[in-house]
Amino acid sequence: MRVAVVGSGPSGVYAADALVSQDAVPVEVDIIDRLPVPFGLVRYGVAPDHVSIRSVRDTLDKVLDKPGVRFLGNVTVGQPEDGGVVSMADLHACYDAVVLTYGASRDRRLGIPGEDLDGSVAATDFVAWYCGHPDADRELFERLVPTATSAVVVGVGNVAVDVTRVLAKTVGELDHTDMPQHVFDTLAQSHITDVYLLGRRGPAQAAWTTKELKELGELLDAEVIVRPEDVVLDEGSAEVAASDRAVGRNVAVVQEWAEREPQGKPRRIHVRFLSRPIEMRGDDRVRTVVVERTRLTSDGKAEGTGETEEIAADLVVRSVGYRGTALDGVPFDSGRNVIPHTDGRVERDGVQVPGEYVAGWIKRGPTGIIGTNKKDAVQTVTSLLADAEAGLLRAPTQPGGIDALLAERGVAVVSTAGWRSINAAEQALGATRGRDRTTIHDRVALLDAANG
Ligand SMILES: Cc1cc2nc3c(=O)[nH]c(=O)nc-3n(C[C@H](O)[C@H](O)[C@H](O)COP(=O)(O)OP(=O)(O)OC[C@H]3O[C@@H](n4cnc5c(N)ncnc54)[C@H](O)[C@@H]3O)c2cc1C
Repeated sequence: MRVAVVGSGPSGVYAADALVSQDAVPVEVDIIDRLPVPFGLVRYGVAPDHVSIRSVRDTLDKVLDKPGVRFLGNVTVGQPEDGGVVSMADLHACYDAVVLTYGASRDRRLGIPGEDLDGSVAATDFVAWYCGHPDADRELFERLVPTATSAVVVGVGNVAVDVTRVLAKTVGELDHTDMPQHVFDTLAQSHITDVYLLGRRGPAQAAWTTKELKELGELLDAEVIVRPEDVVLDEGSAEVAASDRAVGRNVAVVQEWAEREPQGKPRRIHVRFLSRPIEMRGDDRVRTVVVERTRLTSDGKAEGTGETEEIAADLVVRSVGYRGTALDGVPFDSGRNVIPHTDGRVERDGVQVPGEYVAGWIKRGPTGIIGTNKKDAVQTVTSLLADAEAGLLRAPTQPGGIDALLAERGVAVVSTAGWRSINAAEQALGATRGRDRTTIHDRVALLDAANG
């Protein structure tokens, strides 16, 4: 049986691993990715200074060496107008089954006036830039970061914490990471002294995890400032903090910060709760964010109080969630921004699409940690193998399979060997500056490196 996995993030690699780690059905798997390099958000999302989490790459990388697994990078699935070089119909003609694991990497919007002013960016774009994603807008951040003095980060999840930490750390604190050199150089020119982290609800409702949150209080040149009135819990929040240990720990961290004496450090991280942005104001660029004070309703939602303040900000990073997008020819639930399925079997109007499966963020939405994708991928593969054994899959019809098709279309496919060459080139580049690795950010340079 031949299976295509679309996307080489954790869910794709875990799905491939589950497919080749069983004996019931002999399987060959091609992991296809639009980028010349594998591992999705583990490479282009997880913060570069979280070195141990990023090392999950080494575990995922071992799967690419397993018999029966191939990596086909620089191959976009979709219609030509979307940059696609193969369509879903092509994949169905080349494989018995297709597992869709293409993630959910678009940003959600705030929907407030001024959101599109210059200087207001999505966390997805800022994260892509500092991780060295080939599609990142380097010029934008090289213009915005050195000319900003005060930043607002909207959101209270781990991504918002990552963004705040990167903006507040000294370059020395980031020096051991694999960020591209131009990112270090730009961050070194930053004059940002104040970063405001805004949450529209209280500390008991924040989605971040304690370990990540605590790091904000341990930075060399930045101190955390929390207003005491922001961390007073209403009855409902107090109950949640008492019954849910993770929430209780988060609340304790911010309450301790609220009691800290000012330390006089050159940078300040203002963590604000019960604060929602209602407008961004500016001229040729965002200059201020109008923030409305909120209160919690009995069901834990935020409602405006009408009381507002204006915070100076020449950089605003919106981190209010990721969302999936539709792939041409694949059913899509545009309300939930996921592919509809039952146990990983893709469904159109409640009817199973033969040979089509889904796993990871595009299956369940952007939630959970990297490991969550493993269980998720295993569920999907279990369904796929059961269908194979029940004879529900159609054999491929394309002569020569995907290799002939890609060759005919002149696609410069990056194989596992090509990825190994890129890997070696990044390690060599890092060594020139005493680092383990430096990310190569340019697509052409990546393709050159793939060819040795
Ligand atoms: C900023 C950020 C930080 C995070 N930090 C952590 C952390 O510290 N710890 C943790 O446990 N989790 C973290 N996560 C969550 C973790 O990254 C996700 O759970 C995981 O990456 C989701 O895996 P996935 O395979 O579904 O999607 P992705 O990792 O997004 O992989 C999808 C892949 O599909 C490819 N693709 C997309 N479209 C196409 C197409 N048309 N054709 C071919 N290929 C395509 C993409 O290039 C990508 O490689 C973080 C997420 C983000 C966004």
